[in-house]
Amino acid sequence: MGLLRKNADGVRMDTKDGFIGSVGNTPLIRLASVSDETGCEILGKAEFLNPGGSVKDRAALFIIVDAEQKGLIGPGGTVVEGTAGNTGIGLVHICNVRGYDCIIYMPDNQSQEKVDLIRALGAEVRVVPTVPYRDEMNYQKQAGRFAATLDNAIWANQFDNVANRRAHYETTGPEVWHQTGGSVDAFVASTGTGGTLAGVSRYLKEQSKDVRIILADPAGSALYNYVKTGELETTEGPSVGEGIGSTRLTDNLADTEIDDAISIADPECVAMVYRLLYEDGLFMGGSTGVNVAAAMRVAREMGPGHTIVTVLADGGAKYMSRLFNRAWLAARGLTAP
Ligand code: PMP
Repeated sequence: MGLLRKNADGVRMDTKDGFIGSVGNTPLIRLASVSDETGCEILGKAEFLNPGGSVKDRAALFIIVDAEQKGLIGPGGTVVEGTAGNTGIGLVHICNVRGYDCIIYMPDNQSQEKVDLIRALGAEVRVVPTVPYRDEMNYQKQAGRFAATLDNAIWANQFDNVANRRAHYETTGPEVWHQTGGSVDAFVASTGTGGTLAGVSRYLKEQSKDVRIILADPAGSALYNYVKTGELETTEGPSVGEGIGSTRLTDNLADTEIDDAISIADPECVAMVYRLLYEDGLFMGGSTGVNVAAAMRVAREMGPGHTIVTVLADGGAKYMSRLFNRAWLAARGLTAP
């Protein structure tokens, strides 16, 4: 959404229209470390350069605009959401632009930095005990119930609201296709809500059935087995990748063409996060470690000469107390190089 505006002197300027106009159109960054090693072009969609700092700005924007267009929220309204963090960050920025209140429910297993950040941005944050999705006190269900008690309010419902997937079908997918000149051979991404993978898969498969769509899954998630066997069976182990992995099939991910899945354990994720930092100069969060580690495995499977796109989902600063804290890693049997 670039704007060619004229200033008072009639000079044409290339600008973007505020926070909202700055969402999307992120660069596609060649990752030299892993590209040179595999002989493939491994390219990262630089979602950390969105104005709210993550891939979730796109979903937050589409969810709010969709609700406005349907007349579900108007001036003075309230947006309520259950989020592990990044969707909340995107939502509160856009709520500030629109003049909405923002109330965020977060499970208590997330990094303190994210809670502090969302509060600093202006939302009310309600940190609630971490319980499984089937429990009525799950943070997402609490958000939904609370929104229903308010007038002129929406529950963003990022997991099952397909405006999320549409954001990636209408923006991320076309960007990847055009930025690679239609040469993309595979798209690899981990999923939280599934919006990114599902939207991009739909768009790319419409352009070419040959584009392979690969789901990258952290340990402790059920989606690897779901893709491989059709059963939602959870894999073993903890995961440092925040905001990704799922034990259920969301409405966003449902009916998505996925060609294969790759499970990435914590040591491989951590090694990749530090490799991106020390070799490529990119300070990324844990989900990006899962994504790039999986992209590298896809490159090895496909062989040299292929173009593989993945997602640089968010930056590392929100994870200083965890992924970038050697004592925290050591307590989990993990080491940073
Ligand atoms: N990486 C990070 C850091 C995230 O916060 C999320 C979303 N929670 C994802 C990846 C996954 O994105 P999606 O919800 O589109 O599957």
